[in-house]
This record gives sequence, structure tokens and C-alpha cells, in this order.
Amino acid sequence: MREPARSGERIFRGIPVSPGVCRGRVLVFGKPPDDLVPERHVAESELPEQVQRLEQALVETRRKILEVQRQVNQGVGAKDASIFDAHLLVLEDPTLIDEVNRVIAEEKVTAEFAFQKVANQYAKTLSAIEDEYLRERAADMRDVATRVLNHLMGRDEEIDLGHLKEPCIIISHDLTPTRTALLDKKMVLGFGTDIGSKTSHTAIMARSMRIPAVVGLQKASRELRSGEQVLLDGYNGQIITNPTDQTLFEYGQLVRKRVTLEEKLREVREQPAVTLDGASVVLSANVEQPSDTDGVLASGAAGVGLFRTEYLFINRETLPTEAEQYEAYRQVAAALKPQPVIIRTLDLGGDKFLSHLQVPQEMNPFLGWRAIRFCLQERDIFRNQLRAILRASAAGNVKLMYPMISCLDELNQANALVEVCKGELRDENIPFDEHMETGAMIEIPSAALAASSLAKRVKFFSIGTNDLIQYTLAVDRLNEKIAHLYEPTNPAILRLIKMTVEAGHQHGIWVGVCGEMAGDPLLTPLLLGLGVNELSVAPPSVPQIKYLIRRLKLAEVKVLAEFALECESGAEILARCEAHVRAAAPSLFENQK
Ligand code: PEP
Ligand code: MG
Repeated sequence: MREPARSGERIFRGIPVSPGVCRGRVLVFGKPPDDLVPERHVAESELPEQVQRLEQALVETRRKILEVQRQVNQGVGAKDASIFDAHLLVLEDPTLIDEVNRVIAEEKVTAEFAFQKVANQYAKTLSAIEDEYLRERAADMRDVATRVLNHLMGRDEEIDLGHLKEPCIIISHDLTPTRTALLDKKMVLGFGTDIGSKTSHTAIMARSMRIPAVVGLQKASRELRSGEQVLLDGYNGQIITNPTDQTLFEYGQLVRKRVTLEEKLREVREQPAVTLDGASVVLSANVEQPSDTDGVLASGAAGVGLFRTEYLFINRETLPTEAEQYEAYRQVAAALKPQPVIIRTLDLGGDKFLSHLQVPQEMNPFLGWRAIRFCLQERDIFRNQLRAILRASAAGNVKLMYPMISCLDELNQANALVEVCKGELRDENIPFDEHMETGAMIEIPSAALAASSLAKRVKFFSIGTNDLIQYTLAVDRLNEKIAHLYEPTNPAILRLIKMTVEAGHQHGIWVGVCGEMAGDPLLTPLLLGLGVNELSVAPPSVPQIKYLIRRLKLAEVKVLAEFALECESGAEILARCEAHVRAAAPSLFENQK
């Protein structure tokens, strides 16, 4: 990573979550954070321009409100549209406008900073008043202030990200996984967010869609303006404004090196994932939506190790029917036949929600009504999905997997419901695979500790390290402020993985890893050394993981794992893993500047 910015450039540093380099115009999107505008001083000569920008923003905001008022008027009638009158009054309030102009002139600051300052003071004063009518005016004030600030800062909250007209780089405070799934890949060159982390579903989606992305940029959405030219570096996690010719030249070289590496990696596509000393590994791919199937086939993966079905449920007004789900699962199963497709039952909650289900907001959504807990209570939704998966099993090699199993009782209940669904299908003469295998995700420490009991009731385990790490270390997987504590090589995590592998093998079942740890080449030798049989990774990561597996020796990675299980420091384990991979496959490191 290059350190200081060259003249004219500004560098925003964050966490790289999806590889690739792109260059283009910024589009600042989304709801702004509360303390949106940084204090920025301007020269005396620029003050008239700031006053003019303010006037223009007020005029434009007024025009937009009148337009919305007209639409509402046509739709629901004049009574509801009259709420906009209060907003228009705020925009025309001479005391407010004079005060903003005074702050611009006296404090020599930008129009947006002055407007935010004065509007916040107004809203604060109004909300402290006991009169209910006046307190409501505080809400009007905040609403209008956001509109004016959005205009001054070139942000757009209402833009439809699925139908952009020009290619751009999206910059936002946050981007939900639901919104990310809607991005138009042809128009979104890349995206950056102020918050977020590597194992958020937003980041996972970006990798799967091959959109370069950087998260945890802290202030990017406040400081970047729509229209600015930037370069986004998804390998090293930075955004550079106004890149100089020298910077562009260096990035050109980086991209060329990457293309060469990818060509080399493509050569192993048809080769088996076997170590130098003959140990076979099942290398599968994770899919987020049925359209990812082509990417899986092209990647050289041996099937699907995790089909996250949530995206069939979100971004729509109603729940998908059994028939719709069946069709989606059938398509993937048929396309990959005879390779296996592991369909994970619904994992809603955490950072993925359905707007139409009106699930109450929770204080700790990742610890709350999520995944199997939700499904075991919303039995109709669960039954529909189980029936659809069972039916799809007639079209290919389908396996079913439950997320978030925390105790034996949940697994027993889920298995019992599968039996009920099988009985129904038999009665209805609907074909399904009687021998369809069922597995459990091990992603909660209690499940790893109880793995021996669970192993007797399933045909495989798949370790969900994204959650296993967050629950074991008590580190929110979405929070960039504690990202340094999110440590896959922490000895506690490795012991839980080992425990799960041993319990699985003792009961004659295979054990995979489908969390993001599986797709991190630095950790491949360690996981194989711990005895993991299958790795399921995002399709773009398949070639490099396969390339690496083919350069490892099982005997050596076992020694590495033995060292790791004795070692007390996660950092030391990681360093040893990196040394191992650098020695085995030095070319994988060539995309680093
Ligand atoms: C995991 O937790 O590792 C996993 C694969 O599931 P998800 O990322 O969807 O929670
Ligand atoms: Mg999980």
C-alpha cells in the first residue's frame, strides 16, 4: 500500500473486502450519518459562491417538495399533501436563512456546514419545547435540513441503484446486503462504505458479484462529493481522489500482474483439488442467488457447498411460494448435476431482514430471532422451503443444511419436520430423493462443544466460521471498530474447529468449512491440517484455493496445525501460516503493491 498521497490526491483508507481496481465518478448515496458535514473553512473570496450555493439549494429543494406534494395530492388527496406546507414554510423562513448567511460570512465556512449548524440549533430548541405542535416542527426541520444538505452535497437518497444511467462508484455511509444484491453490475464499478467489515453479508455479496469494494472508510461519505473522480483499490482497501498520472501508471501495472496471475490460475480449472502427496479435498463454491450458477461452473468448483437462500426472500413484497422456490433450487441442482448442491435453509435476521414480514426490531439481532430459531417458530414458511428443497432433490444431487443450530433439540425438531414433509410428498405422489442428506452448520460455540451428539443425527457438518468467530470472541462481525479483534487464527477458534472435525470423523461424517475463512488462502493449509474435508468459497476464489491446494503436502500442513494447536498467539499462528503459503505458492502474492 502506498503511504502518503501525491499532490492533489486525497487517500481514504479502509478495509479491502472485494478485490479489483476501478476508476470513475463518485455517486454519494443513502441516508447520511447524523453528524454529516465536517467543518470546512473557505477563503473570503469564496463567500459569495457559498451564499449562492445556499440560495440554489433552497430553490431546488422547494421545487422537489412541490413536485412530491403534487404527486401525493393526485394519489391520496389534498389533506395528506398539506403536510408538505410545513416543510415549505421552513424553507422560506427568513430568520433561518439570515442566520445561515450570517454564519457563512462571520465564520467563513461552507454553506453546508453553516446550514447544518443553524438547522440543528433550531431543531434542538424546538424539540425541547413542551408544546406538541412545536415539537413536531422539529421533525419537519430535520427532514427539510436533510433535503437541503443532500442537495448541497450532491447526495441522493432516493436513487434506484438497480437502474443507474451512468457507470459510477457508489459511496455510502452503509449499504445493506439487500441493497447490494440489487446493484446493477454494469453500472456500479465499485463501492465504498464508512462502516462495515469483511464478513458482513454486504462484503460477501460484493465478492460474489465481483464488484470491487472497500468498507470501514469512516468519513468517506461525508467528505467525498458526487461527481468527483476517484480510483478504488479493492486489493489494498483505499480510495484515491484525483489520481495523478504516476498513480494511474502504478495501478495499471498492478492490474496487469493480476490478469497474468488469473491466467495462470485458470490453468488448474479442470484439475482435481489434490495435494502433492495425494490427499483429495472437496473444493466447492458458495452461491447467493441462482444466477451465480454459471460462475460456479466456470470456476472449476466441485459443486455448491453453501446456497444462501435468503436472497430469494428479500427485495420483494411477498414470500416466495413453494413452487417459486422449487424452481430456483431445481435450476441450480439440474445445472450442477451430478455435483452436489447444499441448500441452506432460511437464515433471516442478523443483517438480513424482510421488510414485509414486520419482524420487530431487536437490540441484538445476531443473538436474536434468527435462522433456525425463526424457522422453527414460523413453521409454514419453513415447511414450504423444506418441501421445495425436497422436491428439487429429484432433479440433482441436493443436500439440505440447517443454519445456527445451537442445541440438539433444534436439530431434532428440524429433522422431524423434514420427515413430516417427506410423508406429505409421498402421500401426494410428488417425487424426491429418499436418501437426501441433511447436515448442520456449526457456527455457535455450543454446537461445536456438542458436536458429538449432533454428529449422530446428520450426514455432514459445515463450519460457519463467520458466525463461529463472532460468537466465540464476542466480536460483532459487522463492526469495523473492533475488526482487529475478529481473529480467525485465535487459538480458541482453532480448538473449536478441531473439536468439530474430530467429533464428525468419529461418527463417520465429513466436515467442511463454508465461512469466509475457507476462501482465505493464508488459512488453507491450516484448515486442511486440522482435518477439514471440504472448503466452500466464493466462486472467484476457487481457482486460487485450488492452485494452492495442489502445491501443499498434507504431511506438512498437519505439522503446521499441530504447531497452531499448541501456540498461544493468534498473530504468531497467522505469521506461520503466511510463511507456509509464501513458500508453497509465491505467485499468489503478486497483486500486492
Ligand atoms: C458463516 O457464518 O460462516 C456462514 C457461512 O453463514 P453466514 O455468513 O451466511 O452467516
Ligand atoms: Mg452464519
